[in-house]
Amino acid sequence: MSLKLTNTLTKRLETFKSLKPGEVSIYCCGVTVYDLCHLGHARSYIAWDVLRRYLISQGYQVTFIQNFTDIDDKILAKAAKEHSTMSQVSEKNIKEFHKDMDALGIIRPSRMPRATRCLNGIREMIHKLEKKGAAYSVDGDVYFAVMKHIDYGKLSSRDLSEQQLNADGRIEKEEEARKQSPFDFALWKAAKEGEPSFPSPWGEGRPGWHIECSAMVLQELGETIDIHLGGSDLIFPHHENEIAQSEMANGKQLANYWLHNGMVNVGGQKMSKSLGNFTTIRALLNNGVSPMTLRLFILQAHYRKPLDFTNESIAAASKGWARLNSALCVGLKNHQQLNWPKPEAQEQTFSNLKKYISDESLSNSCQQFIDALDDDLNTSVAISVLFDLSRPLSSLANQLKRGFSPLGDEAENKELQSKWSFLVGLANVLGLQPELSQKEKSPQNQMHNEIEIIEAIKERKAAKLSKNYAQADKIRQELKDKGIELIDKKNGVTEWIKN
Ligand SMILES: [Zn+2]
Repeated sequence: MSLKLTNTLTKRLETFKSLKPGEVSIYCCGVTVYDLCHLGHARSYIAWDVLRRYLISQGYQVTFIQNFTDIDDKILAKAAKEHSTMSQVSEKNIKEFHKDMDALGIIRPSRMPRATRCLNGIREMIHKLEKKGAAYSVDGDVYFAVMKHIDYGKLSSRDLSEQQLNADGRIEKEEEARKQSPFDFALWKAAKEGEPSFPSPWGEGRPGWHIECSAMVLQELGETIDIHLGGSDLIFPHHENEIAQSEMANGKQLANYWLHNGMVNVGGQKMSKSLGNFTTIRALLNNGVSPMTLRLFILQAHYRKPLDFTNESIAAASKGWARLNSALCVGLKNHQQLNWPKPEAQEQTFSNLKKYISDESLSNSCQQFIDALDDDLNTSVAISVLFDLSRPLSSLANQLKRGFSPLGDEAENKELQSKWSFLVGLANVLGLQPELSQKEKSPQNQMHNEIEIIEAIKERKAAKLSKNYAQADKIRQELKDKGIELIDKKNGVTEWIKN
């Protein structure tokens, strides 16, 4: 494969090569669970969902880890406001997170570690840093000594002398005086009165923010991973600090590729909570913006560029989606009338892109689509391929709607049918799935998120092969909770039924 990605670490467009053939390990910085997710989160996680889907479509086994930060000042402030606890606020917002991400068709990460459940790994890593002389404690606080990491600043291209003090905006004056260098950051914070705390060799306290990601990468994926993801606002200090901690503790490069998505702007200004110009995913969906309209809107811009959010741009995306969707739905709504075979789950998977290359009538479009995504995930060009393909299918949908029976030439009908199934397959690589209106949904043609099930079955199989039965059971249970029952056949094939 010749996927090229812009690597923040080298500032270059590079050809992607995984550490292990056929496998890709990805870590993505997750949310701090104190509130609903906003459009910026949708943008980031949709972009990375496409990266993951594309890698799967190229035959890779992708392990995707994304964390939940469930220890944080903002969560504590919310708990105080709501007269609840840190864990209650986290639990509630984790549920809301899944609700939003599921609605947007984002494949759930392989595993989602939480800071509160990774404390051993965090303490071990701090201890290792201390032993190497890169961490020091002052009255129960532990700091990372940035001067000990010669490469500090390599991701963000900052030189310590140029850096502004209080870069993360959270350093207090009092804290300043305890540190050996103003750039040092907290690995462990001593407990404050009335706040939840956890035991440690340095006394009761809680971990700093940056250390959780370093500890989780090591715990879930190992010392060096293929790709590390995040928003461009995380490059400094968060990702710079992750690199310093991990590379100092493990003596290995943390990630080979660092990818960062651009921010969402409103009227030229960055969307942020503090500016009061942010929109939650929930509010958009409740206001009638369909999940796939939002996906199309986000993917029409390149993931690294700023995305301008306006009512007009959403309205334009909605129109575009209506056209594309009519083509995607035509074979679901009318397969009997068209005498097309009943759509099968396989048609919605995307691990078969290559098979289209050999089909003469489709190979050009398929190649254009692959070339677009190979070019640093150029989703807007990939979308234009979908629109080209959708034209005859949209007009077929229109004719059917107006009561015409377009059936005539059998060969032409067959060609339309294969074009439709191809379009559905390609759209799925971008996570764009047909949206039937409520009244069109029937048990026969309701499209469950089958890709997710198929992926989960694959992951479970891999877990069983590596004798990780606890993980395999967890996957089975998660599917069961969603009403999906797995049946292991004697020949090694796992089938599933929906209850
Ligand atoms: Zn992180």
